[in-house]
Amino acid sequence: MTSSFDPSTFRWEGVEEKPYKEGGGWEGVTRFPLAARSGFEVRYFEIAPGGYSSLEKHEHPHVVIALRGRGRALVGREVVDLAPFDLVETPPLAPHRWVNAGDQPFGFLCTVAAERDRPQPLSEEELSALAADPETAPFIRRG
Ligand code: MN
Repeated sequence: MTSSFDPSTFRWEGVEEKPYKEGGGWEGVTRFPLAARSGFEVRYFEIAPGGYSSLEKHEHPHVVIALRGRGRALVGREVVDLAPFDLVETPPLAPHRWVNAGDQPFGFLCTVAAERDRPQPLSEEELSALAADPETAPFIRRG
């Protein structure tokens, strides 16, 4: 399978936009499934300026490679700034959230296992620990 990339629209030919996910707690996120093979899926996500993904954790890891714009991520207890081609992995059960930190779309590739557990909300203990740290506190005030 091949699909041409159009830099003027930052989209792949024939790849449809899908809903990000059910429920709330996120804003301005779009999802583009690029490939689904036995064992893994590659998706492209884009977060509009001011937008953010859901705050969640799960057993399955993410491998994320930024492609456009500027992002900031909560990964566990760390805050990571993301520019194009930066790489970040989320370890099992690490709380995470992706935020657009610029005024252009923030886009990234995310690879996951095809069979994976559902995202879970954070525990009260995790939320209060993140709230107590001035660097991570902004991530739990959204959504
Ligand atoms: Mn996740």
